[in-house]
Amino acid sequence: MTAEVKGWCPGAHRPMASGDGLVVRVRPFRACLTDQQALALCALAEEFGNGMLDLTSRANVQIRGVAADRHQDLLRALWDIDLLDADPQTEGRRNILMPPDWVSGDQTYRLHDALAKAIPDFPDLPEKMGYAVDTGRSPCLSDASADLRFERDGDGHLMLRLDGAAKGWRIDERNAMSAVKDALLWFNATGGKSAGRMARHLRQVSLPDKWQSCTPRAVTKPLAPGRDNDATTFGVPFGNIPARDLIRLIQAARLTELRLLPHRLIRVATTVPDIAPFITAPDHPLLRIHACPGAPFCPQATVETRDLAMRLAGSVGGTLHVSGCAKGCARPGKADVTLTGRSGRFDLIRDGTPWDPPAAAGLLPHDLPDLIGTA
Ligand code: SF4
Repeated sequence: MTAEVKGWCPGAHRPMASGDGLVVRVRPFRACLTDQQALALCALAEEFGNGMLDLTSRANVQIRGVAADRHQDLLRALWDIDLLDADPQTEGRRNILMPPDWVSGDQTYRLHDALAKAIPDFPDLPEKMGYAVDTGRSPCLSDASADLRFERDGDGHLMLRLDGAAKGWRIDERNAMSAVKDALLWFNATGGKSAGRMARHLRQVSLPDKWQSCTPRAVTKPLAPGRDNDATTFGVPFGNIPARDLIRLIQAARLTELRLLPHRLIRVATTVPDIAPFITAPDHPLLRIHACPGAPFCPQATVETRDLAMRLAGSVGGTLHVSGCAKGCARPGKADVTLTGRSGRFDLIRDGTPWDPPAAAGLLPHDLPDLIGTA
Protein backbone atom coordinates (compact mmCIF):
# COMPACT_ATOMS: atom_id res chain seq x y z
CA MET A 1 0.00 0.00 0.00
CA THR A 2 1.55 3.27 -1.14
CA ALA A 3 0.75 6.73 0.18
CA GLU A 4 0.13 9.31 -2.47
CA VAL A 5 -0.75 12.85 -1.53
CA LYS A 6 -2.64 14.68 -4.21
CA GLY A 7 -6.00 15.93 -5.41
CA TRP A 8 -9.00 17.35 -3.61
CA CYS A 9 -11.01 14.21 -3.13
CA PRO A 10 -9.15 12.48 -0.34
CA GLY A 11 -9.43 8.79 0.31
CA ALA A 12 -7.62 6.55 2.77
CA HIS A 13 -5.10 5.39 0.17
CA ARG A 14 -4.80 8.86 -1.35
CA PRO A 15 -4.96 11.33 1.54
CA MET A 16 -5.06 15.05 1.02
CA ALA A 17 -2.36 17.26 2.52
CA SER A 18 -3.85 19.92 4.76
CA GLY A 19 -2.47 22.58 7.07
CA ASP A 20 -2.46 20.19 10.03
CA GLY A 21 -1.28 17.02 8.29
CA LEU A 22 -3.01 14.47 6.08
CA VAL A 23 -6.77 14.14 5.77
CA VAL A 24 -7.58 10.43 5.56
CA ARG A 25 -11.11 9.75 4.30
CA VAL A 26 -12.68 6.42 5.21
CA ARG A 27 -15.59 5.07 3.14
CA PRO A 28 -17.41 2.55 5.37
CA PHE A 29 -18.94 -0.29 3.36
CA ARG A 30 -22.72 0.13 2.97
CA ALA A 31 -22.35 3.41 4.93
CA CYS A 32 -22.38 1.41 8.14
CA LEU A 33 -20.06 1.08 11.12
CA THR A 34 -20.40 -1.66 13.69
CA ASP A 35 -19.86 -0.53 17.27
CA GLN A 36 -16.46 -2.26 17.20
CA GLN A 37 -15.44 -0.49 13.99
CA ALA A 38 -16.66 2.87 15.32
CA LEU A 39 -14.78 2.44 18.61
CA ALA A 40 -11.65 1.39 16.73
CA LEU A 41 -11.98 4.40 14.42
CA CYS A 42 -12.22 6.67 17.47
CA ALA A 43 -9.06 5.10 18.88
CA LEU A 44 -7.29 5.63 15.52
CA ALA A 45 -8.38 9.29 15.44
CA GLU A 46 -6.82 9.71 18.87
CA GLU A 47 -3.66 7.76 18.05
CA PHE A 48 -2.96 9.01 14.53
CA GLY A 49 -5.05 12.17 14.12
CA ASN A 50 -6.23 15.19 16.05
CA GLY A 51 -8.71 13.23 18.16
CA MET A 52 -11.71 14.26 16.04
CA LEU A 53 -13.77 12.49 13.40
CA ASP A 54 -15.20 14.57 10.56
CA LEU A 55 -18.46 13.45 8.99
CA THR A 56 -18.64 14.41 5.32
CA SER A 57 -21.67 15.52 3.32
CA ARG A 58 -21.45 12.23 1.36
CA ALA A 59 -21.61 9.97 4.42
CA ASN A 60 -17.92 9.26 4.88
CA VAL A 61 -15.68 9.80 7.90
CA GLN A 62 -12.33 11.60 8.00
CA ILE A 63 -9.38 11.46 10.32
CA ARG A 64 -7.31 14.61 9.97
CA GLY A 65 -3.98 15.75 11.29
CA VAL A 66 -2.20 12.49 10.35
CA ALA A 67 1.59 12.67 10.03
CA ALA A 68 2.81 11.52 6.60
CA ASP A 69 5.24 9.03 8.11
CA ARG A 70 2.39 7.34 10.01
CA HIS A 71 0.03 6.98 7.07
CA GLN A 72 1.01 3.41 6.25
CA ASP A 73 0.46 2.32 9.86
CA LEU A 74 -2.99 3.91 9.79
CA LEU A 75 -3.81 2.10 6.52
CA ARG A 76 -2.84 -1.23 8.06
CA ALA A 77 -5.04 -0.49 11.06
CA LEU A 78 -8.00 0.42 8.80
CA TRP A 79 -7.46 -2.78 6.83
CA ASP A 80 -7.56 -4.80 10.05
CA ILE A 81 -11.02 -3.44 10.92
CA ASP A 82 -12.39 -3.91 7.38
CA LEU A 83 -12.60 -0.23 6.51
CA LEU A 84 -10.27 -0.20 3.52
CA ASP A 85 -10.48 -1.33 -0.11
CA ALA A 86 -7.52 -3.38 -1.31
CA ASP A 87 -7.33 -1.29 -4.44
CA PRO A 88 -6.87 2.53 -4.26
CA GLN A 89 -8.68 3.08 -7.58
CA THR A 90 -11.78 1.22 -6.45
CA GLU A 91 -11.74 3.08 -3.16
CA GLY A 92 -11.66 6.45 -4.92
CA ARG A 93 -14.63 5.53 -7.11
CA ARG A 94 -16.75 3.83 -4.44
CA ASN A 95 -19.03 6.79 -3.75
CA ILE A 96 -22.31 5.07 -2.86
CA LEU A 97 -25.01 6.68 -0.71
CA MET A 98 -27.38 4.40 1.20
CA PRO A 99 -30.74 5.00 2.92
CA PRO A 100 -30.82 4.29 6.66
CA ASP A 101 -33.23 1.36 6.65
CA TRP A 102 -31.58 -1.37 4.55
CA VAL A 103 -31.37 -4.84 6.04
CA SER A 104 -28.92 -7.58 5.17
CA GLY A 105 -29.91 -9.28 1.91
CA ASP A 106 -32.69 -6.89 0.86
CA GLN A 107 -32.74 -5.27 -2.57
CA THR A 108 -30.98 -2.10 -1.38
CA TYR A 109 -28.21 -4.23 0.13
CA ARG A 110 -27.96 -6.35 -3.03
CA LEU A 111 -27.81 -3.31 -5.31
CA HIS A 112 -25.07 -1.78 -3.18
CA ASP A 113 -22.97 -4.91 -3.30
CA ALA A 114 -23.50 -5.39 -7.04
CA LEU A 115 -22.49 -1.77 -7.59
CA ALA A 116 -19.38 -2.03 -5.42
CA LYS A 117 -18.37 -5.15 -7.36
CA ALA A 118 -19.09 -3.59 -10.79
CA ILE A 119 -17.40 -0.22 -10.22
CA PRO A 120 -13.89 -1.41 -11.24
CA ASP A 121 -15.32 -2.42 -14.63
CA PHE A 122 -17.13 0.85 -15.26
CA PRO A 123 -15.57 3.32 -17.71
CA ASP A 124 -13.17 5.95 -16.43
CA LEU A 125 -15.15 8.81 -14.88
CA PRO A 126 -14.62 12.20 -13.24
CA GLU A 127 -13.45 11.71 -9.67
CA LYS A 128 -16.51 13.07 -7.88
CA MET A 129 -19.09 10.93 -9.71
CA GLY A 130 -21.22 8.87 -7.35
CA TYR A 131 -24.33 6.75 -6.89
CA ALA A 132 -27.39 6.73 -4.62
CA VAL A 133 -29.28 3.53 -3.82
CA ASP A 134 -32.51 5.26 -2.79
CA THR A 135 -34.66 2.14 -2.71
CA GLY A 136 -35.53 1.98 0.98
CA ARG A 137 -39.00 2.21 2.54
CA SER A 138 -39.33 5.85 1.51
CA PRO A 139 -37.07 7.97 -0.70
CA CYS A 140 -34.65 10.22 1.14
CA LEU A 141 -31.52 10.75 -0.94
CA SER A 142 -32.71 12.90 -3.83
CA ASP A 143 -31.15 16.10 -2.42
CA ALA A 144 -27.82 14.39 -1.71
CA SER A 145 -24.91 14.50 -4.13
CA ALA A 146 -25.06 11.58 -6.60
CA ASP A 147 -24.98 11.22 -10.36
CA LEU A 148 -26.84 7.95 -10.93
CA ARG A 149 -29.77 7.06 -8.75
CA PHE A 150 -31.49 3.76 -8.15
CA GLU A 151 -35.02 4.68 -7.11
CA ARG A 152 -38.57 3.34 -7.21
CA ASP A 153 -41.48 4.65 -9.23
CA GLY A 154 -44.95 5.22 -7.78
CA ASP A 155 -45.76 1.50 -8.22
CA GLY A 156 -42.62 0.45 -6.36
CA HIS A 157 -40.77 -0.74 -9.48
CA LEU A 158 -37.01 -0.35 -9.56
CA MET A 159 -35.81 2.45 -11.83
CA LEU A 160 -32.61 4.28 -12.70
CA ARG A 161 -32.48 8.05 -12.99
CA LEU A 162 -29.62 10.29 -14.02
CA ASP A 163 -29.10 13.26 -11.73
CA GLY A 164 -30.56 16.43 -13.24
CA ALA A 165 -33.33 14.57 -15.11
CA ALA A 166 -36.87 14.67 -13.69
CA LYS A 167 -37.59 11.16 -14.94
CA GLY A 168 -35.75 7.87 -15.27
CA TRP A 169 -36.51 4.43 -16.64
CA ARG A 170 -37.64 1.09 -15.26
CA ILE A 171 -35.01 -1.60 -14.90
CA ASP A 172 -34.80 -5.12 -13.56
CA GLU A 173 -32.40 -5.89 -10.76
CA ARG A 174 -30.81 -8.49 -13.05
CA ASN A 175 -29.79 -5.87 -15.62
CA ALA A 176 -29.20 -3.01 -13.17
CA MET A 177 -25.43 -2.88 -13.61
CA SER A 178 -25.56 -3.06 -17.39
CA ALA A 179 -28.08 -0.18 -17.30
CA VAL A 180 -25.62 1.86 -15.24
CA LYS A 181 -22.78 0.98 -17.57
CA ASP A 182 -24.82 2.00 -20.65
CA ALA A 183 -25.59 5.34 -19.04
CA LEU A 184 -21.92 5.92 -18.16
CA LEU A 185 -20.78 5.04 -21.68
CA TRP A 186 -23.34 7.53 -23.01
CA PHE A 187 -22.08 10.15 -20.52
CA ASN A 188 -18.51 9.75 -21.74
CA ALA A 189 -19.44 9.51 -25.43
CA THR A 190 -21.43 12.77 -25.25
CA GLY A 191 -18.64 14.74 -23.57
CA GLY A 192 -19.70 14.35 -19.94
CA LYS A 193 -16.14 14.23 -18.65
CA SER A 194 -15.65 17.92 -19.40
CA ALA A 195 -18.83 18.76 -17.44
CA GLY A 196 -17.57 16.66 -14.52
CA ARG A 197 -20.96 15.76 -13.05
CA MET A 198 -24.17 14.32 -14.53
CA ALA A 199 -26.50 17.20 -13.67
CA ARG A 200 -24.12 19.73 -15.23
CA HIS A 201 -23.85 17.57 -18.33
CA LEU A 202 -27.63 17.33 -18.70
CA ARG A 203 -27.85 21.11 -18.75
CA GLN A 204 -25.90 21.01 -22.02
CA VAL A 205 -26.94 17.72 -23.65
CA SER A 206 -30.39 16.16 -24.25
CA LEU A 207 -31.04 12.85 -22.55
CA PRO A 208 -32.46 10.11 -24.82
CA ASP A 209 -36.27 9.76 -24.47
CA LYS A 210 -35.93 6.03 -23.66
CA TRP A 211 -34.32 7.05 -20.35
CA GLN A 212 -37.18 9.37 -19.33
CA SER A 213 -40.22 7.16 -19.06
CA CYS A 214 -41.11 7.09 -15.36
CA THR A 215 -41.21 9.39 -12.36
CA PRO A 216 -39.61 8.52 -9.00
CA ARG A 217 -41.50 8.56 -5.71
CA ALA A 218 -41.58 12.00 -4.13
CA VAL A 219 -39.63 12.60 -0.93
CA THR A 220 -42.12 13.09 1.92
CA LYS A 221 -39.65 13.08 4.79
CA PRO A 222 -36.16 14.49 4.14
CA LEU A 223 -33.30 13.26 6.30
CA ALA A 224 -33.07 15.35 9.45
CA PRO A 225 -32.12 14.97 13.10
CA GLY A 226 -34.85 13.59 15.34
CA ARG A 227 -36.39 10.44 16.79
CA ASP A 228 -38.89 8.17 15.05
CA ASN A 229 -39.78 4.48 14.83
CA ASP A 230 -37.42 3.64 17.71
CA ALA A 231 -34.49 5.18 15.85
CA THR A 232 -32.52 8.37 16.40
CA THR A 233 -30.88 10.56 13.80
CA PHE A 234 -28.37 13.08 15.03
CA GLY A 235 -25.96 15.66 13.75
CA VAL A 236 -23.08 17.61 15.26
CA PRO A 237 -21.92 21.17 14.55
CA PHE A 238 -19.89 21.17 11.31
CA GLY A 239 -19.99 17.36 11.33
CA ASN A 240 -17.01 17.45 13.68
CA ILE A 241 -17.13 14.84 16.50
CA PRO A 242 -14.60 14.57 19.30
CA ALA A 243 -13.72 10.85 19.33
CA ARG A 244 -14.13 10.69 23.10
CA ASP A 245 -17.74 11.93 22.76
CA LEU A 246 -18.58 9.27 20.18
CA ILE A 247 -17.09 6.60 22.45
CA ARG A 248 -19.23 7.93 25.31
CA LEU A 249 -22.37 7.85 23.15
CA ILE A 250 -21.73 4.30 21.88
CA GLN A 251 -21.12 3.01 25.38
CA ALA A 252 -23.91 4.96 27.15
CA ALA A 253 -26.56 4.02 24.57
CA ARG A 254 -25.14 0.50 24.03
CA LEU A 255 -25.15 1.03 20.30
CA THR A 256 -24.34 -1.93 18.09
CA GLU A 257 -24.26 -0.14 14.74
CA LEU A 258 -24.19 3.36 13.25
CA ARG A 259 -25.55 4.20 9.81
CA LEU A 260 -23.87 7.15 8.11
CA LEU A 261 -26.16 9.45 6.15
CA PRO A 262 -25.65 12.39 3.79
CA HIS A 263 -25.68 15.89 5.30
CA ARG A 264 -23.30 14.77 8.06
CA LEU A 265 -25.96 12.79 9.94
CA ILE A 266 -25.78 9.49 11.82
CA ARG A 267 -28.72 7.18 12.47
CA VAL A 268 -28.89 4.53 15.15
CA ALA A 269 -31.65 1.95 15.58
CA THR A 270 -32.59 2.87 19.12
CA THR A 271 -33.93 5.84 21.03
CA VAL A 272 -30.98 7.78 22.37
CA PRO A 273 -31.34 10.51 25.01
CA ASP A 274 -29.80 13.93 24.36
CA ILE A 275 -26.05 13.74 24.90
CA ALA A 276 -23.90 16.75 23.98
CA PRO A 277 -22.62 17.53 21.39
CA PHE A 278 -25.06 15.36 19.44
CA ILE A 279 -28.05 17.28 18.14
CA THR A 280 -31.47 15.67 17.70
CA ALA A 281 -33.60 18.81 17.22
CA PRO A 282 -34.32 19.19 13.49
CA ASP A 283 -34.47 22.99 13.75
CA HIS A 284 -31.35 23.44 15.87
CA PRO A 285 -29.65 26.69 14.75
CA LEU A 286 -26.17 25.12 14.76
CA LEU A 287 -27.25 22.74 12.01
CA ARG A 288 -27.96 25.69 9.72
CA ILE A 289 -24.33 26.76 9.93
CA HIS A 290 -21.71 25.36 7.62
CA ALA A 291 -17.99 26.04 7.78
CA CYS A 292 -14.96 24.22 6.44
CA PRO A 293 -11.89 23.87 8.70
CA GLY A 294 -10.45 27.11 7.25
CA ALA A 295 -7.13 28.56 8.45
CA PRO A 296 -4.79 27.34 9.79
CA PHE A 297 -5.95 23.81 8.93
CA CYS A 298 -6.37 24.12 5.16
CA PRO A 299 -3.56 25.62 3.06
CA GLN A 300 -6.10 27.20 0.67
CA ALA A 301 -7.65 29.27 3.45
CA THR A 302 -6.58 32.80 4.35
CA VAL A 303 -9.25 33.22 7.04
CA GLU A 304 -10.40 31.46 10.18
CA THR A 305 -13.91 30.04 9.70
CA ARG A 306 -15.50 27.97 12.45
CA ASP A 307 -15.18 30.31 15.42
CA LEU A 308 -16.54 33.10 13.25
CA ALA A 309 -19.45 30.93 12.13
CA MET A 310 -20.31 30.13 15.75
CA ARG A 311 -20.19 33.84 16.65
CA LEU A 312 -22.47 34.77 13.75
CA ALA A 313 -24.94 31.90 14.24
CA GLY A 314 -27.54 34.07 15.98
CA SER A 315 -27.34 36.84 13.37
CA VAL A 316 -28.68 34.83 10.45
CA GLY A 317 -32.24 33.51 10.33
CA GLY A 318 -31.54 30.97 7.58
CA THR A 319 -28.45 29.10 6.46
CA LEU A 320 -24.98 30.55 6.94
CA HIS A 321 -21.89 29.25 5.18
CA VAL A 322 -18.43 30.49 6.11
CA SER A 323 -16.02 29.18 3.50
CA GLY A 324 -12.25 29.47 3.74
CA CYS A 325 -12.06 29.99 -0.03
CA ALA A 326 -14.28 29.91 -3.12
CA LYS A 327 -14.10 26.12 -3.37
CA GLY A 328 -16.96 25.75 -0.88
CA CYS A 329 -16.08 22.31 0.51
CA ALA A 330 -18.47 22.53 3.48
CA ARG A 331 -21.54 23.29 1.38
CA PRO A 332 -21.16 23.01 -2.38
CA GLY A 333 -24.41 24.89 -3.02
CA LYS A 334 -26.39 27.97 -2.06
CA ALA A 335 -26.85 29.36 1.44
CA ASP A 336 -28.91 32.35 2.57
CA VAL A 337 -25.68 34.07 3.60
CA THR A 338 -22.24 32.97 2.42
CA LEU A 339 -18.97 34.48 3.56
CA THR A 340 -16.05 33.53 1.35
CA GLY A 341 -12.48 34.11 2.47
CA ARG A 342 -10.25 35.93 0.03
CA SER A 343 -6.81 37.41 0.79
CA GLY A 344 -7.48 37.52 4.53
CA ARG A 345 -10.89 39.19 4.22
CA PHE A 346 -14.42 38.11 3.36
CA ASP A 347 -16.77 38.45 0.42
CA LEU A 348 -20.45 38.41 1.33
CA ILE A 349 -22.88 36.61 -0.97
CA ARG A 350 -26.65 36.62 -0.51
CA ASP A 351 -28.61 33.52 -1.59
CA GLY A 352 -25.68 32.13 -3.50
CA THR A 353 -22.61 29.95 -3.51
CA PRO A 354 -19.06 30.82 -2.38
CA TRP A 355 -18.05 31.39 -5.99
CA ASP A 356 -20.95 33.71 -6.92
CA PRO A 357 -20.42 37.48 -7.36
CA PRO A 358 -20.43 39.12 -3.91
CA ALA A 359 -22.83 41.81 -2.69
CA ALA A 360 -19.96 43.24 -0.62
CA ALA A 361 -16.22 42.47 -0.63
CA GLY A 362 -13.09 43.01 1.43
CA LEU A 363 -14.90 42.70 4.77
CA LEU A 364 -13.28 42.14 8.15
CA PRO A 365 -14.85 39.93 10.84
CA HIS A 366 -15.94 42.92 12.93
CA ASP A 367 -17.87 44.33 9.92
CA LEU A 368 -19.96 41.22 9.59
CA PRO A 369 -22.55 41.10 12.42
CA ASP A 370 -24.15 44.35 11.24
CA LEU A 371 -23.82 43.63 7.54
CA ILE A 372 -25.12 40.12 7.20
CA GLY A 373 -28.66 41.14 8.14
CA THR A 374 -28.77 44.00 5.65
CA ALA A 375 -26.57 43.25 2.64
S1 SF4 B 1 -13.34 25.61 1.09
FE1 SF4 B 1 -11.24 26.19 0.60
S2 SF4 B 1 -10.36 26.70 2.58
FE2 SF4 B 1 -12.19 25.49 3.00
S3 SF4 B 1 -11.49 23.37 3.18
FE3 SF4 B 1 -12.15 23.70 1.05
S4 SF4 B 1 -10.26 24.27 -0.01
FE4 SF4 B 1 -9.87 24.55 2.18
